[in-house]
Amino acid sequence: MAKDVMCEVSNCQYWEQGNRCTASSINVVGHRSPSDSRETDCSTFVARA
Ligand code: SF4
Repeated sequence: MAKDVMCEVSNCQYWEQGNRCTASSINVVGHRSPSDSRETDCSTFVARA
């Protein structure tokens, strides 16, 4: 698990209760000028089925 990664992207399959990321590592890219706080710049994101 990535250590101490807090994430609010609860529709990601790596997301866990308490805003925890369970991916072994993540890759965050920027800048995409998010128009919504729920948009993610984490390229490790995988949508939940
Ligand atoms: S992989 Fe990225 S988007 Fe998914 S829970 Fe971890 S930090 Fe959040």
